Amino acid sequence: MLGERFKYDAKPQIKLNPLQERIKSQIESKIKNGYYKTEEVPCPICEGQAFETLAEKDRFGLPLSVVICRDCGLIQSNPRMDQASYNKLYSQEYNMLTHGEEKPTKEFFFDRYFFGQKIYRYLKEFFSKNCKDMFVLEVGCSSGGILAYFRDKGCQVLGLDIGEEYVRFGRENYNLDLRTGTFLSCPLERKPDIIIMSHVLEHLLRPQEELNFVKSLLNEKGFVYIEVPGIKNIPHNYYDFNFLNYLRIAHVYHFSLASLENLLNKNGFRLLKGDERIRSISRPGETRSSYISCYHKDLSSLRHFESVRKYMPVTPFKMRNALESSCAWLLRKVRMYALMRKLYRRAIHRIEPKASLKK
Ligand SMILES: [Zn+2]
Repeated sequence: MLGERFKYDAKPQIKLNPLQERIKSQIESKIKNGYYKTEEVPCPICEGQAFETLAEKDRFGLPLSVVICRDCGLIQSNPRMDQASYNKLYSQEYNMLTHGEEKPTKEFFFDRYFFGQKIYRYLKEFFSKNCKDMFVLEVGCSSGGILAYFRDKGCQVLGLDIGEEYVRFGRENYNLDLRTGTFLSCPLERKPDIIIMSHVLEHLLRPQEELNFVKSLLNEKGFVYIEVPGIKNIPHNYYDFNFLNYLRIAHVYHFSLASLENLLNKNGFRLLKGDERIRSISRPGETRSSYISCYHKDLSSLRHFESVRKYMPVTPFKMRNALESSCAWLLRKVRMYALMRKLYRRAIHRIEPKASLKK
């Protein structure tokens, strides 16, 4: 265990809105009464079964057994819910728990669109042809904001997701080719040049199978963009040096770039570019059964972040947050909040999705 505060006590790490609180209790009772079942599995990289517990709960205060593999160092949720239970969680509670909203929103779509711009810039140096000749497939596309940016750049795009409501939102409001389903249920007419998996791989129970399928789908010069939350990124943004802020019940794997590379190598991919946020670009390559253990490095990083967190009560994130909250409070007082927020977003992003009207 990383410390006493990582033991299960049902207390959330973040502020939950009333909807999230209701959904949290709903999930807790489903776990207690056995509606959600768990299973114990071997490590997907080294097949090992020797694990060390790091934490017993997630950011919402839900029970989650987070362990590190003593052999290869992959951090994972184990035991974790079985596939049937996760399917039910995704269809019944996931979006409301994560986004704190019942329906997909335009604001969420716009955020993903700007995110799409960042991904586009990250990938650009590896483009082998003009945008108008490229076919981009996104797996786990949600309402399709990322794909909308690639579509507006001229690419042919297709998005797959199991969340029917989000898929419908993107299809109906932004005229995107989005389909409900997975690789297996949606046959493709053309081999993709780029497959985007943004915040998807950490949710998959059997990432080996998905990676092998991605490999078989890609065209000759194609590559896959994989983005997952990195454990070494927790000093930054809202994680705020707190590993508990990072953990979510829906995440099965908790990668560092090294553990992700081990998984990629094992499943026949070669990492071309990557960082600890984690953004990565990989191409199909040879399959390597050997791996470099990151047990000591990753565990000592987590311990280091925890000790920094203890002795640094005022982090840069907390200072920024306090400043933003004070400004928001002041603007609300003078009834300028909505207007300033709109102007701020426009100034920061300066781009708008095309075809934003229903056709
Ligand atoms: Zn392992």
